[in-house]
Amino acid sequence: MVLEDTAPDSITIEPPGDAQRDVSRPARLWRPRRVLVTPAALEHEHGRAILARVEALGLPVERLKSNRLMGLRDADPRKAYRDAKATLAIVVAPPTKLKLQPIPPSADWRVDLAEGCPAHCQYCYLAGSLSGPPVTRAYANLDAILANLGGYLGQGGVTSAQAERSGEGTTFEASCYTDPLGIEHLTGSLSAAITHFGAWDAPVQLRFTTKFAGVAPLLTLPHRGRTRIRFSVNARNAARYEGGTASLDARLAALRAVAQAGYPVGLTIAPILPVPDWADAYAALARDVAEALAGVPNLDLTVELITHRFTPGSKDVLQGWYPGSDLPMAEAERSRKLTKFGSVKYVFPRELMQAMRQTITETVRTTLPQARILYWT
Ligand code: SF4
Repeated sequence: MVLEDTAPDSITIEPPGDAQRDVSRPARLWRPRRVLVTPAALEHEHGRAILARVEALGLPVERLKSNRLMGLRDADPRKAYRDAKATLAIVVAPPTKLKLQPIPPSADWRVDLAEGCPAHCQYCYLAGSLSGPPVTRAYANLDAILANLGGYLGQGGVTSAQAERSGEGTTFEASCYTDPLGIEHLTGSLSAAITHFGAWDAPVQLRFTTKFAGVAPLLTLPHRGRTRIRFSVNARNAARYEGGTASLDARLAALRAVAQAGYPVGLTIAPILPVPDWADAYAALARDVAEALAGVPNLDLTVELITHRFTPGSKDVLQGWYPGSDLPMAEAERSRKLTKFGSVKYVFPRELMQAMRQTITETVRTTLPQARILYWT
């Protein structure tokens, strides 16, 4: 795995933000210590707009002479990781990003507005996906990325093919390789994408999930119900695994705010873990969500339930990034499965999986009766 040589012995995990209900003051916004911008990025209006945003915030900018990001590695792997997580690069997405990949069971297609995330989740799903030091890359060629989506209308193997989800239209998932809300104050890309879908007069849906809460810029956008905003939430006793994200209370307040602004909303309950008293912990989470959404008119709520899993590669990366973590990743306590691509993943044993599925699904059904459960995986 390419990231192995960046693995630190330990890192400072930022604590989650303080619990708060006021979405105008969500968790502290990320301020990268270093911003890199390539010459090619500055040929795009959106690249120049991102640059203007970061300069207006007084962030230090390095204008690169080449379009390649160089010198990101360091002999000290801890420093390489810390530096990468504190760096934003404004770049042009490679041409491969314009050839969309299916992303079941969430959506028909994956669309990347950026890659990387500044937070420090010990179970980060990006660990097995990104290569090289985890710099956050914001894509300057946003116009091309959005214009490209039209070629996929009506195609896809998830919402375009399943009768029970056909009402969602052709779906595009924007949070596979990044948390787009966590960097929105720097990029504006998510607002542009939401506005693009709002103006796209067709059965389409933009989807993203987030562990952040800075939704204020999204509340007045002309979304026309074509973006589903989901919040990635977990039992409160899993919060210690989510360094640098918004607190659960801030996320729930943000959930209420976007639902009141007329967005279809959702919960990504993930990664589900057998934390102590897991049944009670997830029941409490469902009650907190119900309380947060009480009285919201015309609520359109979905729930996705995703259990924790890891691959040998993602485990290596995560143990390098967070060597002090007590996240349970012992292969002996898991079932070994082969993916359809022939790679190995470790999931919870069948008995535990069934117990969690039955209990948590039932909890969601009874506590959030208005919710549509999309899948358990
Ligand atoms: Fe990874 Fe999401 Fe956490 Fe960012 S917020 S570190 S993408 S799990």
